[in-house]
Amino acid sequence: MSALDPGRLTPPEGCRRIARRLEDAGFEAWWVGGSVRDAAVLQLGADAATNRQEWDLATDARPEEVMALFRRTVPVGVSHGTVRVLVGDDHVEVTTFRRDVETDGRHARVDFAASIEEDLSRRDFTVNAIGWRPATGEVRDPYDGFRDIETGILRAVGDPEARFREDYLRVLRGLRFAGRFGWQVEPRTDDALREAVDGLAVLSAERVREELMKVLRDSKPSAGLDLYATRGALVHWYPELLGLAAARDEWLGALGAVDAVPAENLNARLARLVVSAAETPEDRAAAADSLLSRLRFSNAERRYVTRLSRLFLPFVGPMDSAAQHRRWLASAGDAWEDLFVLHFAGARAEGSERGDDAERYLEATYERVRAERLEAPLSIGELAVRGDDMLALGMSPGPLIGLLLDELLEQVIEDPDRNDREPLLAEARRLIEIGGLAEASRPRDGAGTPPGSPDTRPPGPGAPPAGDEPPPTDG
Ligand code: ATP
Ligand code: MG
Repeated sequence: MSALDPGRLTPPEGCRRIARRLEDAGFEAWWVGGSVRDAAVLQLGADAATNRQEWDLATDARPEEVMALFRRTVPVGVSHGTVRVLVGDDHVEVTTFRRDVETDGRHARVDFAASIEEDLSRRDFTVNAIGWRPATGEVRDPYDGFRDIETGILRAVGDPEARFREDYLRVLRGLRFAGRFGWQVEPRTDDALREAVDGLAVLSAERVREELMKVLRDSKPSAGLDLYATRGALVHWYPELLGLAAARDEWLGALGAVDAVPAENLNARLARLVVSAAETPEDRAAAADSLLSRLRFSNAERRYVTRLSRLFLPFVGPMDSAAQHRRWLASAGDAWEDLFVLHFAGARAEGSERGDDAERYLEATYERVRAERLEAPLSIGELAVRGDDMLALGMSPGPLIGLLLDELLEQVIEDPDRNDREPLLAEARRLIEIGGLAEASRPRDGAGTPPGSPDTRPPGPGAPPAGDEPPPTDG
């Protein structure tokens, strides 16, 4: 059996200086947590998260001693003993040795501990409970975490039932690590984990959401998400996905499509998961909205993912007319490229010949749609007339101007050649007359109208589409 070779652990120079400075001041500085785990994974030849952003040190220095030693520090969690130290462009989270005094399944009251051994004993999984002290070359691996990494096993430190009861987030963390590295969950840990899923209900939405985002950032989120499903961990926070997860083939197909969305596009990965969970645009939008509300995503994220889910289908095809492509673009607004991302991912996940055909079909559509996007006016802001022109034609400021411009835009989407100032003004005049719009919009009391109008927008190609929720596609 081999042992951890810390040579694989190569923190950036700034991080190493932080460790040295602590040691020079007479404290212990131990690399711990994910950085040591990932170094071991790398040593064993597997593909670990390579460009780590987070480096964690455990030390016997107290937070105030850490803050006194370094010029740039941020007290990110002093009550938990954590100080972020910055050197150059690098930073390290320096945490004083800790032990749990009291836990309730969602937070812990902690106290300082005397040794690295005590500190490692409160960590969740054996693979996360290894320490390495560069100053002396010592490695502490009291729970044989290295052996578990070598054999591919996720195992709780100590009594698994007790560990999950202390903090139910460990259920989701464990599934994430097992999924990310392709590890088996050790049988006792697995039993305890399945028993603990009801406890997920006590967690805060923020912690559950952050866990989901970490899974979605993995190169293959499907692994972690499928473990959520098979271990019953979808129950409390993800009810919208339960029906889909019960239909095994469809679920695996949906997860394959999530994997095929580029990892940096997390909103699209999330939307790709949700769109498979419902049949109609309304149901898809409702599923996205309720799921993202429950997990307390920002309003902007919730609205955007909901919009992607609603607009996912009906989609356009290569045989559709240019006008259909323009109508689709106008309704999709700034989501149009991500909608292609979702469909491309579905085709790629399909694999085989059918998937290849679908990809070619999508490529052809994409080229045609993109050409329209570059050329044709698709929003009121791109019309050759503007709200001020309508005022000049006798209308008063107000929502009628927006409706009239919408009507002109529809005509221009049908035929972009109509986006010429004089003919558009003539058409506007005609519509104002047949609709009695100059009359209708004139204030009854004859009071002067305020200058400018919220409905006027400066014209210009590439201006964003009006409003953030475009009308749904008309099919
Ligand atoms: P990642 O690669 O996602 O950053 P990580 O293992 O570094 O994984 P962190 O949340 O950054 O995870 O935590 C750092 C370390 O702190 C963990 O490796 C583990 O030892 C310990 N830890 C974090 N959260 C918990 C928890 N809820 N219970 C017990 N130990 C924890
Ligand atoms: Mg980490």
